[in-house]
Amino acid sequence: MTLHTLFSEVTGVSGYVLPHEHIFCDFTSVTGDLDHLLNDKVVALRELSSFEKIGGSVIVDITPPDLGRQPKLLAEIALKTKLKIVMSTGWYRKAFYPPEIDVMSSSQLARMIITELTQGIELENGEIIKAGLIGEIGVDRDVISAQEERVLRAAAIASCETGAPISTHSSMYPVGIKQLEILKEYPISSNKIIIGHADTYLDQDYHRELLDAGCYIQFDTIGRNHMNSDVDRINSILNLVALGYQDQILLSTDRCFRSDLKTFGGFGYDYLFITFKELITNAGLPGEIFENFTKRNAVTALSW
Ligand SMILES: [Zn+2]
Repeated sequence: MTLHTLFSEVTGVSGYVLPHEHIFCDFTSVTGDLDHLLNDKVVALRELSSFEKIGGSVIVDITPPDLGRQPKLLAEIALKTKLKIVMSTGWYRKAFYPPEIDVMSSSQLARMIITELTQGIELENGEIIKAGLIGEIGVDRDVISAQEERVLRAAAIASCETGAPISTHSSMYPVGIKQLEILKEYPISSNKIIIGHADTYLDQDYHRELLDAGCYIQFDTIGRNHMNSDVDRINSILNLVALGYQDQILLSTDRCFRSDLKTFGGFGYDYLFITFKELITNAGLPGEIFENFTKRNAVTALSW
């Protein structure tokens, strides 16, 4: 079981892992808001240095191509830092989809994902880099559109063939259940499924239904206090740990706007390991479990 990073397969990661972040992304085609554009390598390097300093080892850039993935810039970042970068593949959600989603079958779409995972993509300089994760595979609303279902099925086919994990964008509650139902029509093991944005609605019944099905749930909007307070997130996590689910919980911060970055006054990529860690351990979570969330659980979930 190894982590598939841009240039190599990695075993024995000892530092922190951020499983759901954006180093580069572009929402502006839909939102028109320049805050929703991360495209500056110098800013990215500065921001990621805070994660490295706090003991970060691995960061997943969960930006599929239709959300402004930047393979060349990711490769440059990987070479200029000690971080292991996991690149994503697939398609984001309906509003962002390119035309091929309408004219290709799920099997054909799956082939595109599989190619990026197994053969990689060639950069202008001839270098080959590989995707290591299928994600973030999204649903726009609380119902799954026909196009989104097609992409979900493509992700499932690709995961079954390669063993690569699928990480979802499931912000509208309780759409993670509906995504899981479609994915489980395929012989995909539940521990290859990460239901993302599980902390946008802190409903324990929702979380438990996903956890009892065997998948990971990801509290990945940590620090976004306008959605839920971190105090509420922490209470929700502590309750799930008390029920014995600590091996299926992942944490991340989904940095995707300029205003999320320290350069622009935001919290940055180290918030989870400083402020949030202090809050949750002061609230009673043993430090060892925090370490497991952000190291062992994440590495296990991302390995294939
Ligand atoms: Zn998302």
